[in-house]
Amino acid sequence: MKTIEFKAWLGGMARLSRGQRDLVREDMAGKVEADLGVKLLEDSVTDTPSCPHCQSQKLYRWGKNAELQRYRCRDCMRTFNALTHTPLAHLHYKSKWLKYQKTMIDGLSVRAAAKACGIAKNTSFKWRHRFLSAACTQQPAQMSGIVEADETFFLESKKGQRNIDRKARKRGGKASKRGLSAEQIPVLVVRDRHGETADFILSGVNAEQIKPVLKPLLNQDTLLCTDGAAVYKAVAKQEHIAHRPVNVAARKRVIAGIYHIQNVNAYHSRLKKWMVKFNGVATKYLANYLGWHRMKERFGENTSPADWLLNAINRTGQFQQRCAT
Ligand SMILES: [Zn+2]
Repeated sequence: MKTIEFKAWLGGMARLSRGQRDLVREDMAGKVEADLGVKLLEDSVTDTPSCPHCQSQKLYRWGKNAELQRYRCRDCMRTFNALTHTPLAHLHYKSKWLKYQKTMIDGLSVRAAAKACGIAKNTSFKWRHRFLSAACTQQPAQMSGIVEADETFFLESKKGQRNIDRKARKRGGKASKRGLSAEQIPVLVVRDRHGETADFILSGVNAEQIKPVLKPLLNQDTLLCTDGAAVYKAVAKQEHIAHRPVNVAARKRVIAGIYHIQNVNAYHSRLKKWMVKFNGVATKYLANYLGWHRMKERFGENTSPADWLLNAINRTGQFQQRCAT
C-alpha cells in the first residue's frame, strides 16, 4: 500500500465503532502471530548462517520464495532457506504454524487442530507427524545418579490401516487376551532423578532388546533401579552395571528411602492418561507420540509455541540460548 493510501486508511480508523475496532484488533492479532512464526524461522538461520549443503559461511541473499528469504552459497552455488534439510521443508501455510504448535501444546486431536487452524484434516495429519519427527529422535545421551527403568505396554493398533487381519476394535479398545500377548507393544522408559527421560519401543522384553538401549545411558556414576525382573538382573550382571533391584511384587516399594521406581512409574501413568484422548494411537506412529510426550515434559508448563516450532526444525541450540537470556 502506498504511503498516501495508508494514511487515508489509518485516518478512517477513527470512524470505526467499538465493535468494528474489536474485529480489526482480532484480525490484526492473527496477522501479527502469522508474521512472528515466519520471522522466527528466518531468525533461526540468520543467527547461525552457514550453507546446509557444504557448511560454508560465504553466502549472499538470493530472493525470496514461499515467504522465506533464500540464500545462495558462494562455494557450492546451491540455494537454501531456513527450512532446507529440516523436517518442515516444503510444507505450506507457514503463517499458521505457530498457531498449530499451540494446538500441540494443548494436545488437540488431528481433527480439532485442523478446525482451530482452518486447514484440511489431511494437512493437519501431515503437519502433526512432520512437526514430531525431530522430537521423536531427541533422546538424552546419558543419565546421571539414580536411574529408574521399567517397561509399560501399549495395545497394538493398526488404526487407519486397511486389510486388518482381525475384526476392527472401536476407539482404542481392549486386548482380546488378558496380560501380555503379541497384541501388547512393550515400551522401556528410563528416567533419572533430574527428570531426563528416554524411551524405547521394544519387540520383546528380553536382554537382547534391553541391553543395547539401556547400556549407553549408564556410566560408572549411575545406579540402576528396576523392579528386580530377571531380565534386568541378567543385563546388569553381564554388563557390570551397578544395579539396585526393588522387589515391587513383594510390596517392598522403597528401600532406604531412595531406591525405588516410583518416578518412572508415575511417568508411565502420566503418559497413559495423556494418550487416552487420542483414542488409540496407530502403532506405526507410537514413536512420534512418545516423542511428543517427552517434549511436553521437557518444556514443562511455561512453554511457548515458539519453543516448539524451533524444536521441530531441530534448532535446540537456539532454544537453550533463548532459555539462558
Ligand atoms: Zn554450500
